[in-house]
Amino acid sequence: MNTAVAATEAPKKPHHIIIVGGGAGGLELATQLGDKLGRTGKAEITLVDRARTHIWKPLLHEIAAGSMDTGRHELPYQAQGHWHGFRYRYGEMIGLDRANKRVHLAATYDDDGREITPDRWFGYDTLVIAIGSTSNDFGTPGVKEHAIMLDTPEQAERFNRRLLNACVRAYAQQEPIRPEQLHVAIIGAGATGAELSAELHHAARGLVEFGLDKIDPEKDIKITLIEAAPRILPALPERLSLATSNILAGLGVEILANSRVMSVTEKGVNLANGNFVPSELVVWAAGVKGPDVLAKLDGLEVSRSNTLIVKPSLQTTRDDNIFVIGDAAYLVPDGESAPIPPRAQAAHQESTHLVRQLQRRINGETKLAPFKYRDFGSLVSLGDYSTVGSLMGFISGKSMRIEGWFAKAMYRSLYKMHEVALHGPVKVTLDTASRLLTRRTEPQVKLH
Ligand SMILES: Cc1cc2nc3c(=O)[nH]c(=O)nc-3n(C[C@H](O)[C@H](O)[C@H](O)COP(=O)(O)OP(=O)(O)OC[C@H]3O[C@@H](n4cnc5c(N)ncnc54)[C@H](O)[C@@H]3O)c2cc1C
Repeated sequence: MNTAVAATEAPKKPHHIIIVGGGAGGLELATQLGDKLGRTGKAEITLVDRARTHIWKPLLHEIAAGSMDTGRHELPYQAQGHWHGFRYRYGEMIGLDRANKRVHLAATYDDDGREITPDRWFGYDTLVIAIGSTSNDFGTPGVKEHAIMLDTPEQAERFNRRLLNACVRAYAQQEPIRPEQLHVAIIGAGATGAELSAELHHAARGLVEFGLDKIDPEKDIKITLIEAAPRILPALPERLSLATSNILAGLGVEILANSRVMSVTEKGVNLANGNFVPSELVVWAAGVKGPDVLAKLDGLEVSRSNTLIVKPSLQTTRDDNIFVIGDAAYLVPDGESAPIPPRAQAAHQESTHLVRQLQRRINGETKLAPFKYRDFGSLVSLGDYSTVGSLMGFISGKSMRIEGWFAKAMYRSLYKMHEVALHGPVKVTLDTASRLLTRRTEPQVKLH
């Protein structure tokens, strides 16, 4: 009798929200919900990520080129959780049990094969999936073996090490540098490919400046940008594509449009037109898809690009307890024919939307507001050379072209928005000032 009374009087456990994926969208959401609900005990917030630290994904091409110091921009999840009222759990989501509302995480191991965390399950009341996307090689032979993708900081760092090693090798060798020895082929001329080619052009000159002077950047280093569509930046307005082409061509970047890749080999890239692009380093940046695990989530509905189909409330079509944000979500807005694009600005807006809606949900409201995506335009950063873009006019609704320092400031502001969502405006202002002050005393390229 007494036990029954004790059971009914036991305090009700707070609503548990699990966010899987601490990237552009997920970490903002965990931070904001932790501050608003976790600290006050109104809800329990848990962030799961297969990495230990966060780096904003649009910085990866700068890490690959060596023009960014990773240490200054990475944020440990454990510390962020401690400061902002959420729990962090290390591990990769490999499955889901919807009936029992549990997420399945794989065991993790250290470099010596010793287990760090066991295979485990975590129960949730609300689940938010924010695991982003991965590069899509469309089954092209040789890509997995010979090309590097820019999906994770580890891949970007691996590319940078190979680039540095290639330059040091060329510098140290007795024989003259072979014509194709320092050639880089970038497959896919979307924003990532175009930005990487400009960043690499700049970084290569920086390396030579710091002493690898046997290399003549104009003669020895060649960057080729390969695109299957008739023009680079095929998803962006034509005038933006033209402006970017002109800048890249002016830098000496070779642009091969209308060029479908058939295979990648150890020595370079085979094109469908029979041409061969010799290259020591190949980057694959030709489109993204949902990570494989999304197709194994206990029957949740996936799109053709393997992303999770959601309703305007960002709830999955088959389970109202599960929300999806960022690249992993597939939502075609009312009156549009294409889904919301895989962009950091979409992940940021969806996260901001869910901060409000999830607070309503735990307060017992069942009718949630629909998410409305606002396209603020597109910006392409060509490193130190230029930034070009088109911004959506707030009143006219038409896009206008911008270039130069204003475009660069707008491009940087997207990252600043992310940083402000994670740290607040005061810390970001102080941090930005400190980075500007130390910029002059550090090399602008990574030399190790
Ligand atoms: C080089 C480059 C440049 C870009 N430039 C721009 C730009 O200028 N503007 C723009 O708007 N967008 C840009 N993008 C796209 C942008 O980075 C993505 O749209 C955005 O990061 C998506 O955010 P997300 O939160 O969905 O996923 P992500 O930011 O990719 O985060 C996903 C997180 O999930 C974790 N994760 C993955 N799988 C699992 C799993 N199974 N279990 C647990 N955790 C997992 C990852 O470790 C990661 O922390 C760029 C992308 C690249 C690669």
